[in-house]
Amino acid sequence: MVPTKLRVAVIGAGAAGLCAARHILASSEFFAPPVVFESSDRLGGTWIYTEEKEDATGRIIHSSMYRDLRTNLPKESMAFPDFPFDPSLPSFLHHSDVLAYLDSYAEQSGVCEHIRFQWQVEEVRPVPRDAGSLGGWEITARVQHPESAQQVTENFDAIMVCTGHYTVPFIPPIPGLDSFQGHLLHSHSYRYPEPFANQSVVLVGAGPSGVDLALQLSNVAAQVVLSHNRQHVCGLPKEVIQVPPLLKVGQKTVVFTDGSKMPADVLILCTGYKYSFPFLDLAQLGLQETDYGVGPLYQHLLPPQHPSLFLIGVCQQICPFPHFYCQVLFALAVLSGRCSLPSVTDMEAEVERQLGLHLKKGGLARYFLKMKEQQWSYMEDLAHLAGFPPVPPAVQQIYEDTHASRLCNVSTYRSRNYRLLGPSAWELVQDWGEN
Ligand code: FAD
Repeated sequence: MVPTKLRVAVIGAGAAGLCAARHILASSEFFAPPVVFESSDRLGGTWIYTEEKEDATGRIIHSSMYRDLRTNLPKESMAFPDFPFDPSLPSFLHHSDVLAYLDSYAEQSGVCEHIRFQWQVEEVRPVPRDAGSLGGWEITARVQHPESAQQVTENFDAIMVCTGHYTVPFIPPIPGLDSFQGHLLHSHSYRYPEPFANQSVVLVGAGPSGVDLALQLSNVAAQVVLSHNRQHVCGLPKEVIQVPPLLKVGQKTVVFTDGSKMPADVLILCTGYKYSFPFLDLAQLGLQETDYGVGPLYQHLLPPQHPSLFLIGVCQQICPFPHFYCQVLFALAVLSGRCSLPSVTDMEAEVERQLGLHLKKGGLARYFLKMKEQQWSYMEDLAHLAGFPPVPPAVQQIYEDTHASRLCNVSTYRSRNYRLLGPSAWELVQDWGEN
């Protein structure tokens, strides 16, 4: 008897979803062609830049991209290991180059014809099966037609959730925020600096967006204040004043924890994002909202009680594309039976053990998914368990070099150019440095 091929649904056609679809297609001995649900009318997710803040149906725009963004990772450690960027491009790219890269990635792997654009997944439900089998899934999606919308329900054997986590703003509970009479926005809605010309702008948070916005706004604003609790950010123009975290907000002023007070026409919250999976009933899957997002997820990837659903890319402070690649190959090895999982109890215990280790090392629970230096051993473990070649050490070297040079100077680190020997990032990189 010919074994039935598994039907896998991929939710989202950003970098993670495209990667999942590409490798499902490439493993046609185990899998039927993927069905990729994409709520927007274009692939690329985060890398789609638009001036709009809402789409035609009034929904918040998915992408947080701003007009002048250049990548904070060089293309040499950003690329999928099996698909290098155009070697003639500089290391640090404009966002439009990344979108073009994803377009050709999808095109060349034959993924495009499997994407259902304007299909918004509204519900994913597990369907019980016989003991011993993986258990199936029912997906309900809303199909957006020009003048109507209709709901469609379909069954699958497995699900890859690739919906990203940089869309729903996290707004911290800052006293007085409601009474602020200036222009209040989250970095999700920032597009370019011109509207803020000659204004006093206060940025809250010095993550990648806060620092980038400070650099951009310092060219046009009357004053830029960067309020944060991190180490002094080196390399910002002298016009950017760095101050401690916000204590409270008045009608047109802000007060910081050291008691100092500043005028503010504009307050931009660069305070990060919340995880959001509105189409999942977490409790039904044995999951819950946690300090760090959502859990327990074995290998930061799957709910132990439903190991045919994979949340690709929930980790932070990673090289996203290589990370997605490893997670996808691991997930497909599990589904095709080439990699077996521990029992449910053992997987749950393993997540507890990992969290315990993280806390013991002094990590805060809410940073459990921030991987930083752990990302390398994590990807190596997945490669070992699923039997694919590990990410080459050069990707780590370049990532760490970038991190170090960014710490030295946030204004100049993007002028570096790294070089790869050989046509593919999968090959060992031996020669890299400043050009
Ligand atoms: P996304 O790109 O967010 O894609 C998710 C897709 O899912 C979207 O197309 C969305 O429309 C779709 N979707 C969501 N919900 C549904 C639903 N219910 N039904 C159907 N479809 C749905 N990474 C780097 O490597 N280098 C960088 O320099 C870099 N800079 C960044 C700058 C900013 C401002 C941000 C926000 C992120 C940056 N990142 C960077 C991280 C970036 O998000 C990842 O690299 C990667 O693009 C995320 O891909 P994803 O597929 O997980 O999610």
